[in-house]
Amino acid sequence: MRGWSYDYVGPAELRSLVRPDASGQSMRSPADFDEWVLARTAEELAEPFTFVVDQAGVLRLAPRRGEHVVCAGGEAVLGAGEISFREESGRWAVDEISNQSTGYCPDVSSWAAVAEAMDQAGIVHPSGFTHEVVFRRCPTCRQLNIVREEDFVCVFCDEALPREWNVDQPGR
Ligand SMILES: [Zn+2]
Repeated sequence: MRGWSYDYVGPAELRSLVRPDASGQSMRSPADFDEWVLARTAEELAEPFTFVVDQAGVLRLAPRRGEHVVCAGGEAVLGAGEISFREESGRWAVDEISNQSTGYCPDVSSWAAVAEAMDQAGIVHPSGFTHEVVFRRCPTCRQLNIVREEDFVCVFCDEALPREWNVDQPGR
């Protein structure tokens, strides 16, 4: 199943950073991932990376300070977040993974597409995000919120936030 697609909802000026040669590296197969990981230094691998899952369901990786919209080449994504790796009996496996992306604000249900993309790249991963971010847009003041501890209240205007993901709803 392909899942939901997320359009970029972040600041417009970051879109200007998008360049064909600046997008994240695609992990279409285990060979792609092995090659990518071997080319990274120990210092790089000690830090989390930016990732997106593109429209074709392929995982793309970029350095952490990279913007998700750049990693995605400006396109909509099936998932986005941060990912870190650790070595486990001679193989690189996912250590931590989240849907932390203020550019795309993907729902936690994007996990299905993310897991599928990692499977395609032969990457050993946990059974869900190790850190889930709950994004909601306030229906009243339109501000983007990150819901903490199930407290579905807008931090800007105190209005109730919906239980369902709604970040892409029009009327900003
Ligand atoms: Zn509000």
